[in-house]
Amino acid sequence: MGDIKGFLKVKRQKSQYRPVCERIKDYSEVAVLPSDASAQEQSSRCMDCGTPFCHWACPVGNYIPEWNDLVYKGNWKEAFKLLTACNNLPEITGRLCPALCEYSCVLGINDDPVTVRENELSIIEYGFKHGLIKAQPPKVRTNKKVGVIGSGPAGMACADQLNKAGHSVVVFEKDDKVGGILRYGIPDFKLDKKIIDRRIKILKEEGIEFKTGINVGVDYPAGDLLKNFDAVCLAGGSRAPRDLKIEGRTLKGIYFAMDYLTQSNKRVSGAKIPADQLIDAKGKKVLVIGGGDTGADCVGTANRQGASCVVQIEVMPKPAECRTKDFPWPKYPMLLKTSTSHEEGAERKWSILTKKFIGKDGWVKKLSCVEVEFKKDTNGCPVMKERAGSEFEIEIDMAVLAVGFLHPEQEGLLKELHVEFDPKGNVKTDLRQMTSVKGIFSAGDMRKGQSLIVWAIQEGRRAARSIDEYLMGKSNLPVI
Ligand SMILES: Cc1cc2nc3c(=O)[nH]c(=O)nc-3n(C[C@H](O)[C@H](O)[C@H](O)COP(=O)(O)OP(=O)(O)OC[C@H]3O[C@@H](n4cnc5c(N)ncnc54)[C@H](O)[C@@H]3O)c2cc1C
Ligand code: SF4
Repeated sequence: MGDIKGFLKVKRQKSQYRPVCERIKDYSEVAVLPSDASAQEQSSRCMDCGTPFCHWACPVGNYIPEWNDLVYKGNWKEAFKLLTACNNLPEITGRLCPALCEYSCVLGINDDPVTVRENELSIIEYGFKHGLIKAQPPKVRTNKKVGVIGSGPAGMACADQLNKAGHSVVVFEKDDKVGGILRYGIPDFKLDKKIIDRRIKILKEEGIEFKTGINVGVDYPAGDLLKNFDAVCLAGGSRAPRDLKIEGRTLKGIYFAMDYLTQSNKRVSGAKIPADQLIDAKGKKVLVIGGGDTGADCVGTANRQGASCVVQIEVMPKPAECRTKDFPWPKYPMLLKTSTSHEEGAERKWSILTKKFIGKDGWVKKLSCVEVEFKKDTNGCPVMKERAGSEFEIEIDMAVLAVGFLHPEQEGLLKELHVEFDPKGNVKTDLRQMTSVKGIFSAGDMRKGQSLIVWAIQEGRRAARSIDEYLMGKSNLPVI
C-alpha cells in the first residue's frame, strides 16, 4: 500500500465523458481515457485490504490491490504484467465491464469505491502506448490442433490461452469479421472497433488462425471437426432472442435489438445496406422495450440516427438508487443505472406491461400498454397485477425488442454434434467444461447463457486449461 492515507486525502474521480451535444453527432467512444497522473492518484485510494473483496468479486481473479499499489508507485511495467496474467482482454473489460469488483470494494462501505475498472484501462492502454505488448509466439509447438467455434470474448480468450500452451488453434467465425457481440452488438460509441482489431493483429502474429465467413454446421460439416482437430471448443454465444408474442407482433417496424444493433454497427463500419432492409430511426418515434443494457445501447443508437423521440419501457419496477437490505455489501446490487445513452435523451418508464401493437397500412403505429404493480404472495414471491384503469397508448413509428435471449441457436452445429443441453437450453458440460461429446468443450454464453464479457473471458480461460489437460495429461495454464 503506497500511500497509507490515500483514501482519506483523495476523492473518487468521476468517469469523464465527451459533452452530450458533441458526442450525439458521432459514433466515437463517449468515454475519455483518464490520464496516467489521474490513475496514479486514484490508485492511491486502494487500502490494500487484508481480504480484498474486489479480488473475490472479480470473475478472472484480477490482482487488484497489487497492481493498484504498483500504479501508485509508477511501476506500470510490473502492473501490466500482473494485469495480463489474469485477463486476455483488459482493454475491453476496462471499457465495458460493469465492474463487479467496485461493488464489493471495502472502501465502498462508507465512501466511494476505488476506480478499479478505469485503473485497469489505464494500465493496459499504457502497455499499448509504450510498446509493452508485443507478439510472443510460443517457443515450442505441441502438434495438437484445436478448433474454436466463435470469435467473441470467450473464443478469443480460449484461443489465446491454448496458443500460449503451444497448440495450433483455428478460430471459426460465421460473421465477416471477428469479435462476436463486441463487434456486432455493442455500439462503437461504447467500444471503438479498432480496439478489437489491435488485439486480433497480435493474436494472429502469435500464430492463431482466424477463418471468418464460415458457419460451422453449414459451410463446414460439424462431423469433420473431430476428424480435423484433436479437441474443439464451442464458443458460439447465446443469440436466440426472446420474443414478445402479443397481438400485432407481425406488423412492420418491429425489430429485435440484435438485428438493429448489428446493422447499425455494420453501417458505421462503412457497409451499405439495401433500402428494403434498412432499419433506421431517423425522424421516427422510437420505442425500446426492455430496460436493460441492450435496450440502453438501442437508445443511444436511435438518438444518433436522429430519432424524433425515444421512449424506453420496462415491466419490472424502477430499481432503487442506493443499496437496499436485499442487496447488502459485498453483493452485486440491483440498482437504477443511468447510462451515457440515457443522458443523451430518452423517456424511461417502469412497471409497464405491453398488451398489443396497433398498426396502420401494415406498419406499427401504437403500443397499447398498462401499468402493473408487484405484490408478494403468501410465500413472499412477487406477483404481477395490472393496475385497474391505467391502460394507455404510446404512439410509435418503430419498436425495438430488447427483452433478452433464451439460449444458443440449437439448429445446425449443436444439433448435428448431438451435444446435450441443460434445462435452460444452453450447452451442458461437466465441471471441466466438456460437453456430452468427448473432446468437445464449451465456453461463454453458449454454455452459461447470456452474461458478461468478463465471465466469457473466464469461461474461455477455464475451457483452455481443461483442453490442455485433456490433450497433454497435465497443464501449466492458470486455473482461471
Ligand atoms: C447489445 C449487447 C450489449 C452488451 N454490452 C455489454 C457490456 O457493456 N459489458 C459486458 O460485460 N457485457 C455486455 N454484453 C454481454 C456480452 O457481450 C456477452 O456476454 C459476451 O459477448 C459473450 O461472449 P461469447 O464469446 O460467449 O459470445 P459472443 O460474443 O456472442 O460471440 C459468439 C460468436 O460465435 C459466432 N458463432 C456462433 N455460431 C457459430 C458457428 N456455427 N460457426 C461459426 N461462428 C459461430 C457468432 O457469430 C459470434 O461472433 C452485451 C450484450 C449485448 C447483446
Ligand atoms: S477492496 Fe477496494 S480498497 Fe480493498 S484492496 Fe480491493 S480495491 Fe483496494
